[in-house]
Amino acid sequence: MAKFIFITGGVLSSLGKGIAAASIANLLKESGLKVNILKADPYINVDPGTMSPLEHGEVFVTDDGAETDLDLGHYERFLDENLKQVNNFTTGKVYQSVIEKERRGEYLGQTIQVIPHIVGEIAQRMENAALNQDVLIVEIGGTVGDIEGLPFLEAIRSLGLKYGKQNTFFAHLTLVPFIKVAGELKTKPTQHSVGELRRIGISPDMIIARSEIALGEEIKEKIARSCGVEIDCVIESIDAQSIYQIPLKFNEQNILLPIAKHLNLKLKNPNLKNYENLVEKIINPSKKTKIAFVGKYIGLKESYKSLTEAIIHAGANLDTKVEIKWIDSEEITIDDLQDCSGILVPGGFGSRGIDGKLLAIKYARENNIPFLGICLGMQLSLIEFSRNVLNIQDANSSEFDEKADTIYLIDNFINQNGNQQIRTIKTPLGGTLRLGAYACNIKKGSLLHKIYNSDLIYERHRHRYEANPKYRELYEKNGLIISGESNGLIECIENTNNDFFVAVQYHPEFTSRLKKPNPVILSFIEKCVK
Ligand code: GLN
Repeated sequence: MAKFIFITGGVLSSLGKGIAAASIANLLKESGLKVNILKADPYINVDPGTMSPLEHGEVFVTDDGAETDLDLGHYERFLDENLKQVNNFTTGKVYQSVIEKERRGEYLGQTIQVIPHIVGEIAQRMENAALNQDVLIVEIGGTVGDIEGLPFLEAIRSLGLKYGKQNTFFAHLTLVPFIKVAGELKTKPTQHSVGELRRIGISPDMIIARSEIALGEEIKEKIARSCGVEIDCVIESIDAQSIYQIPLKFNEQNILLPIAKHLNLKLKNPNLKNYENLVEKIINPSKKTKIAFVGKYIGLKESYKSLTEAIIHAGANLDTKVEIKWIDSEEITIDDLQDCSGILVPGGFGSRGIDGKLLAIKYARENNIPFLGICLGMQLSLIEFSRNVLNIQDANSSEFDEKADTIYLIDNFINQNGNQQIRTIKTPLGGTLRLGAYACNIKKGSLLHKIYNSDLIYERHRHRYEANPKYRELYEKNGLIISGESNGLIECIENTNNDFFVAVQYHPEFTSRLKKPNPVILSFIEKCVK
C-alpha cells in the first residue's frame, strides 16, 4: 500500500489546491517515486459531464473515457501520466454505488448509514487508487466546513487512523490575506480554518499558505505556532506569473524534506533542468504571436482550460508568447480577425454563436490564414465548406437542424455502417457519446502525417455528432481531404488549397504536456509564428 498525502483547503475556494497537489505529485515523481493522484469532489453530480462549462469550467476527459473535474487536467499535465476513472469521484458516484449494492442485497439487511457505509465506500475508493504506488495524493474538493465535504474528511481521518502517522500526511492550503490599509498579512483565517479541521479530528502536518506577497519569518513562525506544525512545514505559495513555476517554488522551499522525513520516503534529487528551461520560456519568450480564439464560453476562460494550457506548452517549446485574442462568437465581426496570425475554433455544444464561428472559418479559408478547428470546429469547417464551396445551401449539423445531414448523430453512422467496432457510451439523458481515446489512422503524404510523423495516433474524444462520410468524395474532389479516420469515421480534415487549414474531431488539448506539447497544436502555433 502507498503512503497517503491528503490535501484539504480552507478559507475559500480557488486558491490553487489542485495546482498545489499536482506540484507535489510532480516533485515526488521527479524524485524517483511512483505517484498516483486522486480528486474527491463532494458535489452531488455523478460526474461533471452534465454541468455547464460556464458554471464549472472544462470537463476533462481521460483516455478511458471518464468525464472529470478540470483539476485532473492539471494532474495529468504536472504528473505527465494518463489518469483513469479511479482518479476522480464525487458524492453522487459514491451514493450511486452504495445504493446499487444495497439494492443487490450486498449489505445483508443492514441499515445503510453515512458512517460506516458512505465513508467506507469513500475510503475504499482511495485505497484502490493507492494500490501498487509509492505515494497517493488525495485532494479533497471544496473547503473545510462545507456540509457535503464532511464524509470525505471523515474518510481521510479514518485512513489516518488505519495506516498510522508514518504512512499518512495531511497538508492544508489556506489564504493569508494582505490587508492593504493595515499593510499586514493576516493569519487569523488560517487559524480558524485549522481550528475547523481539528474539530473534525484532523491535525495538519503542513500549511501551504497562499498569499500575494512573501510571508516572512515572523508570519511563518506565527502560523507554525498557532497551527501546531514545524516551521519547515509552513510553505508559502505566492501568486506566480505561471502555474508551472509552482513546483519550482515549492522545491526551493524544500517542501519534500519534511514530507519524506514524516513518511520515511527515500528520494533522489529531482532533476528539473529541462522543466526549468521551459518555464523560463513561458516567462521570458523571445518571439510573439497573436491568435484569434473564437468561442462562446469566453465569459469563463476555465471552460477552455486544457486548450489554453496546450497553447502555453506550444508557446514555451517555440520560445514564443502566444497572445490569445478572445472573441465572442456571438458578437464577432471580420474586423476582429484582422490583427491575428491564426484562427482557432474550439469545441462546443448547442447552436448559440454558430454563425460567428462559421464567419471566422470562412475568413480563414478564403484568406489562407492558419486555422485549427477542434471538434465542433471541425464540424463547422465541413458545414462552411459545403455551403460556400460545394454550394449545398442547407448544409448543417442535425444538432442545429434536425433535417440536416452534413454532420449527424453517431447513432446514424453506426446504424448505416453496421460498424460494431465503435465504442460509445449511452448517457442517462438518452444521448450516445464517443468518449475517451480512440485510434486514428493518418493518411500518408498528408500535412497531418508530417505533423504527427506517424501512421497511427491516439487522441481523446467527447462528442455526439459525426461528419457524414457520404460527402467524402465531394470534399476530396474539391481539395478538402480526409487526413485521419477511425473505423470509417472522419477524424481529421485538411484543406489542401491552404497552407495550414487543419481540423480534427478529437480534442488534442487533453494530451498536451509542457515537455510534450500536442503535435497539431504545436504545428498550428508554429505556423502562426511564421
Ligand atoms: N456539439 C458537438 C457534438 O456533440 C461538438 C462537441 C464538442 O465540440 N466537444 O458532436
